[in-house]
Amino acid sequence: MTRVIVVGGVAGGATAASQLRRLNPDIEIVIYERYRDISYGSCGMPYYIGGDVEKWDSLTNMTPEKFRDRNIFVKTEHEITAVNSKENTVTVYDKNSDTEFTDSYDYLILSPGGSPKKLPAVKDAAQTFSLHKLADLDYIVEFIEENNIKEAVLVGSGYIGLEVTENLTKRGIKVTMLQHDEQIYKNIEADMNGVLYEAMTEQGVTLKLNTEIDYVDGGKAVLSNGEKIDAPLIITGVGITPNTKFLNSSNITLKDGLIPINKNGQTNIDNIYALGDAVMTHFQHVPEKTTQSALAWPAHRLAHIIANQLAGDRSITHEGLLGTNIVKFFDYNIATFGLSEKDVAEIPHFTVDQKQKNKSGYMKDASPIHIRVYVSKDSGLILRAAVVGTEGVDKRIDVLSAHTRLGGTVYDLINIEIGYSPPFSSPKDVINMIGYKAIEKAEDL
Ligand SMILES: Cc1cc2nc3c(=O)[nH]c(=O)nc-3n(C[C@H](O)[C@H](O)[C@H](O)COP(=O)(O)OP(=O)(O)OC[C@H]3O[C@@H](n4cnc5c(N)ncnc54)[C@H](O)[C@@H]3O)c2cc1C
Repeated sequence: MTRVIVVGGVAGGATAASQLRRLNPDIEIVIYERYRDISYGSCGMPYYIGGDVEKWDSLTNMTPEKFRDRNIFVKTEHEITAVNSKENTVTVYDKNSDTEFTDSYDYLILSPGGSPKKLPAVKDAAQTFSLHKLADLDYIVEFIEENNIKEAVLVGSGYIGLEVTENLTKRGIKVTMLQHDEQIYKNIEADMNGVLYEAMTEQGVTLKLNTEIDYVDGGKAVLSNGEKIDAPLIITGVGITPNTKFLNSSNITLKDGLIPINKNGQTNIDNIYALGDAVMTHFQHVPEKTTQSALAWPAHRLAHIIANQLAGDRSITHEGLLGTNIVKFFDYNIATFGLSEKDVAEIPHFTVDQKQKNKSGYMKDASPIHIRVYVSKDSGLILRAAVVGTEGVDKRIDVLSAHTRLGGTVYDLINIEIGYSPPFSSPKDVINMIGYKAIEKAEDL
């Protein structure tokens, strides 16, 4: 019987295993997960801290027992320490028995994700945590409750930093956010991120730019600016490193620590597939540009593709990503897709900005929405889009992203029929206005 081993049992791994079982009832599937938990919603964890997720149990989808019922064998606390791609075997370290054994596969699916980067200045302090796996959530919540935490220091301002800041604040904890340079949340343009500063001021979050922790002294943090601040809880959110060291001797190609994959989800070795935060792929609309998309949508999409590939349907392939993403920070939402600002600068383009109300201006709760698109001078495709506002940001980024994904140019946006009624949009929505403005701008190029 064909045997598939899956490395990593959370977003990519658990989903790929489930999809494969759905498509093929006979294949043998084993998931190895090095930690305690499998198949949980990492994305919901910040919201458990703040109370929007009320039940811890609702964060978990499948348990090893439920998988067992579907004839999928899950081994938690089992770490793959090496892959021998010539022999089609993996070396497995069983943490419980402190023993090592070898297992063999016909196909290997890698979804090992990443690990949070550690900051040397704080990593050994007992009050330092990062929020990455479900057990981290438990440690953080327990620590807050046991120590009656009322203040916290948040290091880093990526999307997890923002979400954790919001949710700690909602829990009544006063947050000081530290950013080592002078721009927070670099995923959005520096001249569009003003809403983040506004939200921090409104919500009583203290932001210190160009500031790092030099060292921790008991319950205090000594900062690079010489200040000593209360730091009974420190949470770091400074990015992830792909968990691919165990592949070093495997003959699987790695680039910058990431696993490049082809349209089938295959690595350079035919019977080894990969997905999730540890893979390198390319943009769908600019295929010559590579990307790592450490987000849940791509992991789920590739799980479906790889499962179909292994189940024998080779027609379902991966066409690249747009990197569509959105984050909520208190009342504000920020979304982007496409190339980074740095990468977009290498391609001849022009930009179009449109600021208008998200719904009919006479509605009392209409609020501003700001869209910027970067348009390829050659193709008219939107290379990058950024959207900032309160309500309606999700709709606009999704329309722009779907339009681009299906090959639509910026000029076609004038024909996008937005569902209109005053509480939702305007007869000429911000999306349409981007199209009209782009046509005008292109005439002057
Ligand atoms: C707090 C938080 C909030 C997030 N919010 C969002 C969001 O709002 N939107 C969004 O799109 N994405 C979000 N993400 C990102 C999203 O969760 C990831 O993109 C997704 O989980 C990636 O799936 P993965 O399978 O690659 O990695 P993971 O889900 O991290 O799973 C990898 C698993 O592999 C295991 N593993 C690693 N190496 C080995 C080994 N050698 N042997 C055995 N097991 C191994 C790891 O222990 C881990 O459990 C969030 C992530 C976090 C942490």
